Amino acid sequence: MSQEINAASAPPDATEFDAVIVGAGFAGMYMLHRLRGLGLTARVFEVGDGVGGTWYWNRYPGARCDVESLEYQYGFSDEIQRDWTWTERYAAQPEILRYQNYVADRLDLRRDMRFSTRVTSAAYDERAGLWTIGTDRGDRVQARFCIMATGCLSAARVPDFEGLDEFEGAWYHTGDWPKEGVDFTGKRVAVIGTGSSGVQSIPLIAEQAAHLTVFQRTANFTLPAGNRPLPKEEIEKSKATLLQDRQHARTTPGGIICFEYNETLAAEMTPEDRKRELESRWNKGGFAFLGAFGDLMATHEANDQAADFARAKMRAVIENPDVVDLLLPNDHPIGVKRLCLDTHYLETFNAPHVELVDVRKTPIEKITAKGIRCGGKEYEADCIVFATGFDAMTGALTNIDIAGRNGAKLSEKWAAGPRTYLGLGSAGFPNLFFITGPGSPSVLSNMIVSIEQHVEWIADCIGRLTEGNIRSIEPKKEAEDLWVDHVNEVAAATLYPQANSWYMGANIPGKPRIFMPYAGGVGVYGEKLAEVAAADYEGFELGA
Ligand code: FAD
Ligand code: NAP
Repeated sequence: MSQEINAASAPPDATEFDAVIVGAGFAGMYMLHRLRGLGLTARVFEVGDGVGGTWYWNRYPGARCDVESLEYQYGFSDEIQRDWTWTERYAAQPEILRYQNYVADRLDLRRDMRFSTRVTSAAYDERAGLWTIGTDRGDRVQARFCIMATGCLSAARVPDFEGLDEFEGAWYHTGDWPKEGVDFTGKRVAVIGTGSSGVQSIPLIAEQAAHLTVFQRTANFTLPAGNRPLPKEEIEKSKATLLQDRQHARTTPGGIICFEYNETLAAEMTPEDRKRELESRWNKGGFAFLGAFGDLMATHEANDQAADFARAKMRAVIENPDVVDLLLPNDHPIGVKRLCLDTHYLETFNAPHVELVDVRKTPIEKITAKGIRCGGKEYEADCIVFATGFDAMTGALTNIDIAGRNGAKLSEKWAAGPRTYLGLGSAGFPNLFFITGPGSPSVLSNMIVSIEQHVEWIADCIGRLTEGNIRSIEPKKEAEDLWVDHVNEVAAATLYPQANSWYMGANIPGKPRIFMPYAGGVGVYGEKLAEVAAADYEGFELGA
């Protein structure tokens, strides 16, 4: 590792690099480290004023990972994993951000990073075989490779509600939370949104607020998180096996080894066995519940068994008869919208100062000077929290003016939905890579496993191109078309497309309804990546 840390950087005022990396979250940090390991120069641009990505921006109360900390960490360095010790089963945002800063220090990453800088454009010059990258600070730099580590959930989105500019109170988005935190003590607070960010923040906001009004459009399935401090023995055991566990994780569907998939189909089990399986997974906490039967995500019959079980458990903790039916999801199969892990979320609605408003029945009409109007009634608030999510998977990419061969724009090419080969690149855009791009397992997996899988593939590819004096790599259109069809076919064999989820782009009015991640699993996908590389990048055009 030390040799790589000492790798030469480009001079601070350099304008030419081997690669430009956009984003300094888990993906951009590791990508820089790997490129340095190849002896290449790279510059990272990041909007935030520090590393961390998701964990830099999402500082809302209750923010924590929902993949267990012992798996939600880098697996590429034995030294780092041995020297870092997690404190909780699901680490909270400050701890994850400390970890990322620790890794940045350890690998001396910041000297090749430029913070508080947004990449606004990237244009490919075919003749020179170079990308020109422009930023909002006026930089114009050139690089042979451009790597988008811009994140799947980084373009925070406030819906276009009329009247927001008239609101006299303060408002916040969970994905762009003030660094200094927010004190809600004694305030009347409105929260819009009940996805994972809402489910995590609502209980803690309720502890401070004088009155809390939650505006819910879709009730979500919540599973008990079962968070707890991590005992020393569990940490030691994990440190001893992390590297082999990580290899194993890459062979699993979700990149998570503690998930334990039961491959037996629901119909092959007795009612008692099904109940026992669901009960033990529910009690354990976390996403393992979804692995209860082999066909849980594939057939309504199996899914209904799990959904009914979850609804009964959820109902049992809601004491307020006025809201119980409203809080129970009934319009989508369990698991097809990202599941939320619950720490006192449902119980929060038992408190007399917490109110639930159904904005499915009566959509928000407008934001007023004093609060939120819906169903002809004004709900007054001193603060509004938008837990309304992201322009997921494509937003951070299409926000950049990306022009490939012949000036063709990526945003135009993707107007009817993203088109990639393996989620790694798009035809017409040579030497442009996406880390965890649409068409890869990404958000359906432990993202750090998927990030490492992509970073290593891209680094190996760039290393081989450089060694072989190959000027460019670019997906062939036929390979891309086949891959897009395959991604759609795999999704169609699951229940995923049956919900209005952000996986489908359904949270953004006008966004095409396409299931964007690859549902074939991390293991199967990893085999495909290895085959493609071994066959001299089959499906890619290599430019001499
Ligand atoms: P990010 O961390 O999103 O980093 C991308 C960076 O790129 C951002 O800092 C952004 O500012 C920067 N950027 C974007 N566009 C530009 C531009 N034009 N110019 C310059 N910089 C730019 N995944 C899991 O697997 N497990 C979890 O438990 C989990 N919990 C999550 C909790 C929250 C609250 C959220 C929002 C997501 C969670 N995720 C989780 C998904 C999470 O996004 C990934 O795990 C991971 O952190 C993504 O890392 P990344 O580096 O790919 O992207
Ligand atoms: P989200 O899942 O997209 O939830 C957004 C919420 O806002 C939904 O309840 C949505 O309702 C609602 N909403 C959006 N527009 C609305 C409108 N115009 N009117 C009323 N309601 C509206 O976003 P998120 O909660 O930020 O989570 C996004 C993803 O980030 C998660 O799925 C997960 O992958 C990740 N994440 C993980 C964690 C974790 O536990 N580690 C925490 C936070 C986020 P509809 O459902 O009806 O669209």
